[in-house]
Formats: sequence, C-alpha cells, structure tokens
Amino acid sequence: NNLLEVKDLSVNVEEQQILRGINLNIGKGETHVLMGPNGAGKSTLGYTIMGNPKYSVTGGEIIFNGKNIVDEEVNVRAKDGIFLSFQNPIEIPGISLSNFIRSALEQRNGKRIRLWEFKKELKKAMEVLDMDESYAERDLNVGFSGGEKKKAEILQLLMLKPSLAILDETDSGLDVDAVRTVSKGVCEYQKDKEGSLLIITHNTKILESLHVDYTHVLVDGKIVTTGGAELVEEINNNGFDRFVKGE
Ligand code: ADP
Ligand code: MG
Ligand code: MG
Repeated sequence: NNLLEVKDLSVNVEEQQILRGINLNIGKGETHVLMGPNGAGKSTLGYTIMGNPKYSVTGGEIIFNGKNIVDEEVNVRAKDGIFLSFQNPIEIPGISLSNFIRSALEQRNGKRIRLWEFKKELKKAMEVLDMDESYAERDLNVGFSGGEKKKAEILQLLMLKPSLAILDETDSGLDVDAVRTVSKGVCEYQKDKEGSLLIITHNTKILESLHVDYTHVLVDGKIVTTGGAELVEEINNNGFDRFVKGE
C-alpha cells in the first residue's frame, strides 16, 4: 500500500555519486521528515524523485503508484501527482499567480475548470495563508518577498492537492510569523489525509503543529537512521554528531 517506494537508489550529479543506495517507502497520507547535514544529498533526493534531468539515476528504482517512474519526464510526474516546492522559487513575468495555478490544475486534471469555481477555491486557500487577494493577479513571484514566494508555493500545494508533496526547506529564511503561516497551510493539506508529505527541513518550528509519522536522517548519501517524530526533537537538541561519527 505504498505510494512511493524508493529502492536502492543511487544518483550521480555531474559524474559524482551523491546518493548511495537509498531505500524509502512512503504510504498514502503519511508525513515523512528528512533531515541531515548540509551537502548530505537531501535536495538531490527531492530533485531525483521529481525527475530533474541533472540528476542521473545509476541504480535502483523509484516506484510511484506501482509504476517505475525513473524514465518519466518531470511534467509526466507532475501530472501523476508529484509536487516539489523549491528552496528558491523562480519568478515568471507575464503570468499571474492565479493563471499559473489554474493552468497547472487544468494540466493535472486534463480538463477545464470553471473560473468562478476556481476563484472561490483560490480565495479560500489564500485566506488560510493570510495572503492578500491582490497577489492572485500579480506576476508569479515577481517582486515577492522570500516569505511571499513560500506562501505562493504552499498556495499551489493547497490548490493542486498532489498525492506526494516534497517540501525542500520551504521554511528556510522565514521569520517566525511566516513559518507559522506556512505550517498552517501544510496542516490544511494534511487534514485531508489523502496526500503524502516528504518534508526536508532544518527548522523544527515548522513541524511543531504537524503530525509526523517518520523521520529519516540522511548522511553522505545514505539514510543512516529512521525513527518517529521523537527523532526530530533529539536532533534539535543534539545535532547530527551521533549519526555522522557513528554510534
Ligand atoms: P543537501 O540538500 O542535503 O544540502 P544537496 O543534495 O544539495 O545536499 O547536495 C549534495 C551534494 O551534491 C553536494 O556536494 C552538492 O555540491 C552536490 N550537488 C547537488 N546538486 C548539484 C548540481 N546541480 N551541480 C553540482 N553539484 C551538485
Ligand atoms: Mg519509511
Ligand atoms: Mg538542500
């Protein structure tokens, strides 16, 4: 009953091996947290699951909904229900936030959406995120602050309702209030119990109000420990020393 099964996955970036035999199973509706020191390969895993062509799979499989997606392109994976929020969201002049989300939604569902229905949903989601309505008509991320960009990403999450959302340090560089808002948005996504989450973070604040099923620690391209929510607390207190040096 796994949504995602990563099996013995090895990944190279520019001829250099970054991931060394990753095994990770994510069930429907589960929330997994991925932690680890800088350069461990956390973002690499996210990009690889999403299908970024810079990351080449040299071994293993990525099974999503029972199908090996290793050779699928990014847009196919997105259509299948995988969503990746980037550490640094891109700016797209000429496309409003609202139109961007609507067209992503139409691609995902393969059908047109009534404008008023879409606007109603969008308004509701923007309220959750304390976003002023005017942002809907602004060019995507252009002139948005760091916090506003992250909110725009969570807005996409709430509107697209992907079956697997990978949040890569969506909380980095945010002030306390923005982290709380982002966390509230992620909480709203969790509420359905339909979507699964892989949250990559250094900041345990975002996790405080979320339900966490599993925590994984990635060191030097390998998952060295898997535990429950308590592992987040332990790492918060003691850092990664015990995993890096070996017990
Ligand atoms: P983390 O997210 O855990 O900090 P990354 O996955 O970003 O780690 O990086 C893991 C290693 O892979 C680092 O040594 C990094 O320099 C390298 N790497 C990742 N992406 C690229 C890339 N696009 N080009 C070159 N090197 C990369
Ligand atoms: Mg697991
Ligand atoms: Mg990273």
